[in-house]
Amino acid sequence: MSLDGKISLVTGASRGIGKEIALKLSKEGSHIAFFYGSNEEKANETVKELEKNGVKAIGLKVDVSKEDQVKDAVKKIEKDFGAIDILVNNAGITRDNLLIRMSEKDWTDVLDINLKGAFLTTKAVARKMMKKRYGKIINISSIVGVRGNVGQSNYSASKAGIIGFTKSTAQEFASRGIRVNAVAPGFIKTDMTDVLSEDVKSEMLKNIPLGDLGKPEDIANLVLFLASSKADYITGQVINIDGGMVM
Ligand code: NAP
Repeated sequence: MSLDGKISLVTGASRGIGKEIALKLSKEGSHIAFFYGSNEEKANETVKELEKNGVKAIGLKVDVSKEDQVKDAVKKIEKDFGAIDILVNNAGITRDNLLIRMSEKDWTDVLDINLKGAFLTTKAVARKMMKKRYGKIINISSIVGVRGNVGQSNYSASKAGIIGFTKSTAQEFASRGIRVNAVAPGFIKTDMTDVLSEDVKSEMLKNIPLGDLGKPEDIANLVLFLASSKADYITGQVINIDGGMVM
């Protein structure tokens, strides 16, 4: 699945699923630019690991919910690396609470980062992709966006929004050779799920037919496939990757 010389932008790749995606793409020869929220130390470690795969790598502190930051960063990447071929909208947060206790801030922060962030980054990258008549956009949704979850109405709305956004942009961009797909992970072992209590985790396991949480690498393998030419006839799809939770 060679991605030799391609330029990829992965949002939220200082750790977790995004980092694994960036590493996987770099192993196939893609240069990597990535955004991170605040953890500079982790971002620097990730850059070093990416460079070990013999590609160019840069980590930029960019809040995906801020249009100016996203625009400036994409311009810098295009100037230093060239036009972006592969965009993975992965940055995401949770602020869980039951609806009646959920603050307006927790609602807005989650929608702004998880959904508006994908809109702003896609918009900043799309013009050059359209000119090139080539591009792959992979949006990270969640099975919570497909089936909902108690205490996650903000997160679920953002991830369901990603699905609608994926299908609309896939239709808008298809004639320009840009494929847009969404990946909907189930429960994956990262910092995001490490904070859950043992009770919640064991309850979760009961609902996973394959009997275990997924690994970031499971998601990265699917993203790599979608980014490669082997998936050129796939667009506008949402692929669940969840040990069988949704079927
Ligand atoms: P994670 O370990 O918490 O990592 C989140 C990443 O996003 C970090 O690199 C973080 O940067 C970055 N980030 C946070 N806010 C940002 C912002 N405003 N602007 C730019 N970057 C920002 O999360 P994860 O578990 O890998 O999840 C990755 C994606 O998969 C998310 O969209 C999540 O919703 C989705 N997902 C995860 C699971 C799961 O079970 N883990 C399941 C379904 C879907 P810093 O390190 O600097 O904070």
